[in-house]
Amino acid sequence: MEDYLMDDLVSSIAKLKKERNAVILVHNYQLPEVQDVADFTGDSLGLSIEASNTSADVIVFCGVHFMAETAKILSPQKTVLIPDSSAGCPMADMITRDQLKDLKKQHPNAKTICYVNTSADVKAECDYCCTSANAVEMLEKAFDENDEILFVPDKYLASYAASRTKRQVIIWQGYCPTHAKILPEYILEIKKDHPDAKVMVHPECTGPVIQLADEVLSTSGMLRYAKKSNAKEFIVGTEVEMIYPLSKQNPEKKFYPITDLAVCPNMKKTNLQKLEISLKNMVHEVVLSPEIISQAKKPIENMIKFRDQAQLTKK
Ligand code: SF4
Repeated sequence: MEDYLMDDLVSSIAKLKKERNAVILVHNYQLPEVQDVADFTGDSLGLSIEASNTSADVIVFCGVHFMAETAKILSPQKTVLIPDSSAGCPMADMITRDQLKDLKKQHPNAKTICYVNTSADVKAECDYCCTSANAVEMLEKAFDENDEILFVPDKYLASYAASRTKRQVIIWQGYCPTHAKILPEYILEIKKDHPDAKVMVHPECTGPVIQLADEVLSTSGMLRYAKKSNAKEFIVGTEVEMIYPLSKQNPEKKFYPITDLAVCPNMKKTNLQKLEISLKNMVHEVVLSPEIISQAKKPIENMIKFRDQAQLTKK
């Protein structure tokens, strides 16, 4: 896009945002030009919590559908918009509420924990929610050794978290097709060119990839680690756009994606034009019934309670 057209678009978005009293949330995997117009960038839950604390009337979520739903669950009184209504998450779509109900019938005494990458419908069936940052801690703190635990939908995150605890976890076989494209042999190859680089990977990666990593981190964790580490080079195992915020916040350090194949097509559906249309025409609104909002809020609140307790004990 020509620079002057881009500038027009950016000014128009800023003007509309003011008129609508809107806040723009942008996930770390979004296109750089979309990240640059954000009020907040980050991971899905952090963004939704941030937005619920603002006095905005409207939230525009540049991400995928379950993220916008999470924002709506935490801010039911606000209008939540998603610029492209077809931006879904294949991993979240790997389990439906009915499938989870069937699983629960097979394990009537089990407690259920869902990764935040699930639909509001699925969250409504769960006891706890977790993020990639706190999955290990949630298994440790929210359950005891005798509990039977159903973990949905990500088999790689579940296996990683279970391997770090003594919990009995029944794992749903979902996964992220984007992170599954990151292969261990790519790490070995790129290490040859950057032997001193730290390897940090997302826990949605497969077990063999996780085994080769120096650090297993959520996207927010990667940003914190890169900032405080003395290393000058980092090999990054997650969606490729993560290189953008890492480089922007650490201009003196170098970041290399493990593979350029790790692109989430759904995250690339949102662009500045769609964001402008979203604010102009107030589309596409995320609508959830009050019943689903109240049911889906419980596992998120149960997680936030543990997070707050953990923060208190760290103080
Ligand atoms: S990167 Fe994976 S988990 Fe994230 S939105 Fe895309 S498909 Fe879903």
